[in-house]
Amino acid sequence: MSNGNANALQGAVKTEKGLSFKGFIMEPIIDKCEGCDRAVAFEDTTYCPSYAKPARKWSYGICNFATHVKAEKTKTGEVKINPLKASKRAARGR
Ligand code: SF4
Repeated sequence: MSNGNANALQGAVKTEKGLSFKGFIMEPIIDKCEGCDRAVAFEDTTYCPSYAKPARKWSYGICNFATHVKAEKTKTGEVKINPLKASKRAARGR
């Protein structure tokens, strides 16, 4: 997992309700977030600084902030999820 935004959760506090960050209670990421560069580990759990509730984000469809997958509409209007190759991502940064 990327540590590029390791400080993204700076100031977060563990509370009884969950991880409190900027007035939000953060929920841990879900399996669909695995591989996303935005996910940040805080102590023993991984959270998403972009979305307090990743599960809810994904319940509407693909997360539009995901760095590891991309939604594509097929001709029939179906949404297809394409995994992005890590090598492609690296190439973009060059
Ligand atoms: S940006 Fe989306 S896919 Fe990435 S960790 Fe957050 S909720 Fe998950």
